[in-house]
This record gives sequence, C-alpha cells and structure tokens, in this order.
Amino acid sequence: MGALREFLSLVDVEDFQSRYSKDITEESFFGYPLAPILEAEQRLRDASSESIAYFSMEYGLAPSVYHTLHGSEPLKSQNKFTQHAVFSNLRAMDNFFTLAIDKRLDLPIYSGGLGVLAGDTLKSAADLGLAFCGIGILWNAGYFKQNFWFQDGQRPHEMYWDPATYPGLVPLKNRIELPCLKEKIKIRLWKYYAYSYSMHAAVPLVLLDTNLPENNDFVRKLTGQLYRSDNEVWKIYQRLILGLGGVRALDSLGYQSGRYHLNEGHAAMAFVEKARSMAPLGRKNLMRHFMFTCHTPVEAGHDRFTKKTLKEILGPEETEILSQYGTDPHNPDLINLTLFSLQVCDRVNAVAKKHGEVMRRQFPSYQNKIQTITNGVHTYTWLSRPFAKLFEKYESQIGPWKKDPSRLRNVLELKNSSEFRQDLWQAHQENKRHLAWLLRQWKIQENILTVCWARRIAAYKRPSLILQDVKCLAEIAKHSGALQLILAGKAHPKDNLGETHINEILSAIDSLDPEREYLRVLMLENYDTYFGKLLTSSVDIWLNNPLPPFEASGTSGMKAILNGVLQMSTVDGWVCEAADKPIGWFFGWRHEGNEIGSEWNLRLQEDSGKLYETLREAAALYYQTQTLSGSLNIQSNWIDRMIECIAQAAYFNTQRMVEEYRAKIWATLTNLNPSVRES
Ligand SMILES: *Cc1c(COP(=O)(O)O)cnc(C)c1O
Repeated sequence: MGALREFLSLVDVEDFQSRYSKDITEESFFGYPLAPILEAEQRLRDASSESIAYFSMEYGLAPSVYHTLHGSEPLKSQNKFTQHAVFSNLRAMDNFFTLAIDKRLDLPIYSGGLGVLAGDTLKSAADLGLAFCGIGILWNAGYFKQNFWFQDGQRPHEMYWDPATYPGLVPLKNRIELPCLKEKIKIRLWKYYAYSYSMHAAVPLVLLDTNLPENNDFVRKLTGQLYRSDNEVWKIYQRLILGLGGVRALDSLGYQSGRYHLNEGHAAMAFVEKARSMAPLGRKNLMRHFMFTCHTPVEAGHDRFTKKTLKEILGPEETEILSQYGTDPHNPDLINLTLFSLQVCDRVNAVAKKHGEVMRRQFPSYQNKIQTITNGVHTYTWLSRPFAKLFEKYESQIGPWKKDPSRLRNVLELKNSSEFRQDLWQAHQENKRHLAWLLRQWKIQENILTVCWARRIAAYKRPSLILQDVKCLAEIAKHSGALQLILAGKAHPKDNLGETHINEILSAIDSLDPEREYLRVLMLENYDTYFGKLLTSSVDIWLNNPLPPFEASGTSGMKAILNGVLQMSTVDGWVCEAADKPIGWFFGWRHEGNEIGSEWNLRLQEDSGKLYETLREAAALYYQTQTLSGSLNIQSNWIDRMIECIAQAAYFNTQRMVEEYRAKIWATLTNLNPSVRES
C-alpha cells in the first residue's frame, strides 16, 4: 500500500481531496516527513504497546518558534498575529508604533504554563519514541485577545482564528457522542502532530470539538473559549468533553491505551467513563491504569461541583462513581475532582520537590502516594538560534546535547576557555540586539541592563512587585547606569485581581515618564509563546517573584537559564532546587514550617525592598562586564553565572522529566519499551 493510502486508512481526514491533498502527499505532511506519522499511528494501535493517553485542557505547542509546518497556500490573516501594542514611559511612541513581527498565531489552545508544559511533554515523548498520544480540546475562540486601556487595565476581546486552514491541523471524519441527560453532544475529532527535534518521530494530539451544525448553540460554544465557564453547568460539560469524550475518542481511533494520565482534575471524567458498569474489583484494577499530576497548590485550580448539578447532567451510575471517590469531606454536597483523582489514580505526583511538600500537607491522607517529578522545558524548542550555534561549535567538548540535553552540564569544563566565554557573551549580545531592533522605536539598547518579568498575571505571582516603589527603582537606574524593564502577561478575563494588577502596572509606567532617559519601562500586549522564547533568551535578568509556596514549579526561568539568562528570583517552585547554585540572585521571604499560609498575604512591602537591594547589586556586577574602553571584561563573574545557568539546564528539561515519568509513573504495568529510538 502506498504511504498516502496507508495514512488515510489510519487518519480519516475530512474533506481530504478538496482541502488537504496538496499538503499531505506520499512523502510529506505539511512539509514534514509522513513516515513518522504512520509509525506513530501503528504503534498506538498495537495492543502490546500499552500506550499512554495524556489528557490536558490546554496545549502550548509554540509552532511559531519550533517545527513550523507549512501549507501550500499562504497563511490566512486570521492565523497570523503580527501587531503587538506597547505601553511604555515613552508614551509618544506607543501611539505611533506597534511591535510588528511577521509571525503565525500560535495554535491558540493554551493560556499559560500548564499548556506549554503539555506541549513540551508531547515533543519529548516524540524525541524518546514513546507510544504516546495527547488528548485536548480544539478551542474555536482561542483564549482571548488582550488590549490595554490606560486607567482601565486589560480589556479582553474574542479571538478569531481558522482551524480549517491552520497548517498541520486536520479534521477527521470520526464523530463521537456523549451520553448526557439533557443535551445531545456530538464531537468531531481533529489531529495535530508534535514532531521530535530530529523529525524522525512524531506523536499525535487529538483535539475534541463540539462546534458542529448538528449541535445546538449552547453545545457549540462549549469548545469556544478556553476557561470561559459562565456557570457550573458549562464547566461540567467541558470536563465531560475532555474526560469522557477523550476516552471515547481513543476507542474510536482504535488506540490501545494502557495508561490514562490526567493533568489536573479537569480530565477526571475519563475514569468515570471506564469505570461504568464495572464491579468493585474491576474498578480497583482500573486504578492501576490511571495517573494524576497536580499542577498547582492555589485554591482556584481545584474543581468542585455540586452533586445536585452533576445529577442533572449525568446518569445515576456516573454520579454514584463520582460520589464514591470524590465527595468533599468538608462538604458532602460537593464533589472535588482533585480528591477524586487522588483517590482513583494509583500513581500521583507533584511538579517540583517543594510542591510535593506542600501537596502532602494539603492532602495528608495521600502523603505516601504523592511522588514528585520536577518540570522541565523542551530544550530544542526554547533554545535560541545563536545559542544552538554556540553549542554546535563546542559539540566536541559538550557531547551530543541535542539527543541528550543532560550533556549541557559539560559547559562547566569550558569555564576557563576565554574563547568560549567570548563566544557565549557574543551569542547573548546577538539575541539582545535582535530584541533591541524589534523594540527600536522605544530606543531599547543592547548595552543597558535589561530585566524582564513576563508570565500569566495572577496575584500570587506578584506582577507589580518591581513597581511597588517607582522612586526607589528610578534611583537605582539613575545611579547604576540605566535600566530597561520589560513586562508582559495576560490576566484571566474573569479575574478582577489580575486586571487590577495590569492597571497598577500601567499607572506606574505612566508615572515614570520624567525618568525615561535612564529608566525605560515597557509592557507588551498579548504575551504568547513567541514572546516567551524571545524574552527568555534576550534579556540579561529573568525576574521571578512569586509568593512562596504558591508557585508549584514555574518554567519560564528554565527557558532563560538554557539561554544563559541570569535569574533574580524568590525561592519557590523549581528554583528551590537550584537556589544553592550561582545562577543569579535569590531574595525575599522564604516559606518554612508546616503552615501553608495565605495566598493573599502578598508581603509586597518587605519583598519589594529586598528586590531593590538585589537589583542594585546585580546592576553593579552588570556594569563591570564592560571595561572603561567598552570592551568585554572576560573574567567577569557574570559570565561564570551564565555558564552555571546553562549547566543547570542539563537537568531542568522535559527529556529528563519524561524519563522520570516513565520510571515512576507510567511503568506500573509491564515495562515500557520504546519501539523506536532516534537514529
Ligand atoms: C513558558 C511560558 C509560560 C510559563 O511560565 P511560568 O514562569 O511558569 O509562569 C507561560 N506562558 C508562556 C507564553 C510561556 O512561554
């Protein structure tokens, strides 16, 4: 059988002839090799592979920066994102210019770190040749589009994109149905593929979509906007689609899943679907096939639903299963999906060591079950061009780092090489020059200390910590030799506190107008994975100041260390595991003892004071990297720290993480043998 015919027999693409026949051919899938897709699809149908089905509400695959699949038609304008407004203390520029970048819209089915981690996990699973499949939702209206309005904070807008012409995304003829009491729900499946860095292997991502003419308006909107849940009923349906729908999708594709990996309680309904009409012993056995990763200690991250509403939507058997394992001990009228998942999954983990400690205190009955696997980032996605070239140049000393990122530790042996130190600094400056060029209207300069805070805006992450005392910040900039500060981030549209923070940031920036000659502050609209990569690789200092212990892990700092960008951070999440290494500066209140404390006691006063002290120290070191004549001070301790950062990236990557999941979480049944290895 020809490769294309085989592909179509495995992946039954809707409208293939009219829409996709130019982009999917005997050899090629949107410009990438077709063969790895065939192998992946066969592997998932092979009963002996006991493949892993990985459920997540969101996926951030970053196709604008990694393996950008191309179609034969030019990209539709709805699938581009080319203009980002800037709010700065050089306000005149904001009115005349936007940050213009000719780039594709990231597949808009993520909101932040959870999604980016899920995307990176798929890529590392592909790198390791695992029988693996991601299950998620095709969010027809994306997350949202952000606009800043001075004195008003953030205004969210609906986002329009076109799944049917998004390169690499294909609709399938497969339809599944959900058994709900009130609504008839039909679901269409889509597929996207995450390729390994070498393009020798791939893993599919199956996306569920209710936006079909057969469904009523309410049902069509359920897979509209990510995390838009107007009420409890809406939320429950979305979880049914992911969990119950996900299991039915796997069956409809003929995938022989042996492991169901639930990320957050969002996907817990997968267990309900499998456990229906099973006897108690069957259910016990089923638990061996379920795994659960909890990603946050923050209250809002844990789903709770009333039994009353669940009963109106689901049949008696489903409600009974949920009640049996998920009744909230503090309120028997509620089902808690986190508790449910802890109960029904044999293997459970937190996402960093510190998070493990916190989680054991939050759920003491499950103490012994809770393991920890520290998050990572996909090396090849987040590594900037100049750094990839640098590592290639020194590959004989570093070793095969692409295949095995743990080799990056070997950069420590290059610490005394002046050539390497020089090249490293040059690679960083090249990244920084690119940023300065993109932001040229705001007169960003490559030789000024540049600090960035960019992430999802949530109260516990303390987005405006560095702007608490603008006078003090201006003093530091004035006396140290100038400072550039870049901020970016989206607040959840329903999260008023987040909007307050954005308003606070905009007002603080506005008030710094007189200081603009030596302190430039910019806030960029619509933070996305493109900016994630751009900023983590091109500033001098990555600022991370969550209130301990509420940052489960955090991953943007891991992208930064990979690119030699120093950390300025409170000690929380993944940073606890690197805080004894000279990778930057650690400051602020530390969490100790048995009390978790309140996520609303933000300690802004004391910690901003500590932050300013630390910034002063960092600025002094930064401005010693250049001699009076302007040439590089090659012995600078700043460069030692950059090298230590890269060495730490040997550990904080998803390849190490996925290997750990294999050993501790997935390898519960029979051994997991990878059926292909990278050549
Ligand atoms: C990496 C990344 C994140 C996660 O960052 P945290 O530091 O974990 O908050 C969020 N959003 C985008 C766009 C990213 O690239």
